[in-house]
Amino acid sequence: MRQEYFVYENPTLYQCFEWYSPEDGTFWKNLASDAAQLRQDGITAVWLPPAGKGSAGIHDVGYGVYDLYDLGEFRQKGTVRTKYGTKQEYIACLKALHDNGIITIADIVFNHRLGGDATEKVMARECDPEDRRKLISDAHEIEAWTKFTFPGRKGKYSSFTWDHDCFDGCDYDQKTKKSGIYLFDGKDWDRQVNGEYGTYDYLMGCDLDMGNPRVIQELKDWGHWFLKEVPVDGVRIDAMKHINASVIQDWVRDMRKTTGKILPAVGEYWSGDIDTLLQNVVGEKEDIGLFDVPLHFHFFDASHADGNFDMGSLYRDTLSERRPHQAVTFVNNHDTQPHQALESYIPAWFQPLAYACVLLREQGIPCVFAGDLNGIPHDGIAPCAELKTLLKLHRLAAYGPEIAYFDDADTVGFVRLGRRDHEDSGLVVVMTDRGSTSRKINCSKSFARQTLVDALGHVQQEVTVNEEGIGEFPVEGGSVSVYVTKAMQKKLAQPVSPRTQGSVRSGMARH
Ligand code: CA
Repeated sequence: MRQEYFVYENPTLYQCFEWYSPEDGTFWKNLASDAAQLRQDGITAVWLPPAGKGSAGIHDVGYGVYDLYDLGEFRQKGTVRTKYGTKQEYIACLKALHDNGIITIADIVFNHRLGGDATEKVMARECDPEDRRKLISDAHEIEAWTKFTFPGRKGKYSSFTWDHDCFDGCDYDQKTKKSGIYLFDGKDWDRQVNGEYGTYDYLMGCDLDMGNPRVIQELKDWGHWFLKEVPVDGVRIDAMKHINASVIQDWVRDMRKTTGKILPAVGEYWSGDIDTLLQNVVGEKEDIGLFDVPLHFHFFDASHADGNFDMGSLYRDTLSERRPHQAVTFVNNHDTQPHQALESYIPAWFQPLAYACVLLREQGIPCVFAGDLNGIPHDGIAPCAELKTLLKLHRLAAYGPEIAYFDDADTVGFVRLGRRDHEDSGLVVVMTDRGSTSRKINCSKSFARQTLVDALGHVQQEVTVNEEGIGEFPVEGGSVSVYVTKAMQKKLAQPVSPRTQGSVRSGMARH
């Protein structure tokens, strides 16, 4: 993923929702009114939640896809609006973000459909949930909720309807009222997907048959419609673990070609294992970014090890290390937050350390989570207090070549040397997962004889770098400090002017 896909230098992606965002239909309106503040805070791209109508209506976060053509326009699943508002409000919100120079990233869910309008009689075999390659029943007739006719939409935008032939299987037999994993007769699970449970093609609901050309064509037809209908600049692709990667690559290429948009694309492949990521998804295709899930799990391990994590190994076998141009780095998200099935929450004490890595290192495009920026009030979680300053440091100071010091079990750091076209830029980061300490760091002669101060204010003591470019940098216990020049510290105290004038137009042309 090339940085220029995100238009700005040092771009910052912002995941604007958490799982339990309000369901009262004010979300798009509120996000629209927050747009100016987000830009002021240094956000350059916003990842919005899935906008299509979900099977749980206004209670659906958006991942339980029912109708991708219903963006809050048709009375389906109980209401016209979605959890987030109406289609007009969605479009107004996207425009407000554009007016403030922010790129819009839509969340695209292709793997499954839920909430079918009618059942069909289908021959199916039940699979062992622990190994989906094993069939545990003979073929028998089940009643599957595989008929999607969208009666509330009445064929507007698309006359396509779904039936059992579009799917490989489902999880419920209406006839016996029994849950299970049912593979339809004549179908097979895709093996070109994650290998957990034998094959992890099946996740939930009715699983799309990506081997069916009608399905592939429909996903493209929908994409063409969506990218024309609403001012969206890029995509985040959900559940890539359960979809053959070539299907996604082909779809993204087709969208780019058809729309002429740059279309930044970030895939969510939920695996902490770097080899799985490299083998299954990455290939040599650097035009699709991937969330750095291994790095997230290292943050998680470090934040729960009571100082016993080897901080020197923080980046070992991560996407940031192995495929830096493809990595989208993050700390928490809507799946890792408390009470979620995939909960692996990075707690408050480690968030500043993790965000210093995500926002200030050279590798990867950072993604900031709403639950960390604003807190999660219903869980009594406060905002990460250092995050706004770290965002400013990302914009103003995190430039130039990097010298990394991930070579100690407890106290690590890195240096950004700064760049002439960003006045007073450059910084020295030091962090520890043990007690308060200091570390001698060679930050090169570009900092020689300079006096540096902790921009995060954790350490009051100033550090003077010697002739050789070496300084002794203190850090509090379980904490991070970011040392900058006094001139930069002054800049950080001022409001930052927006990076560019004017607005980002929908359909940015390719470079
Ligand atoms: Ca699948």
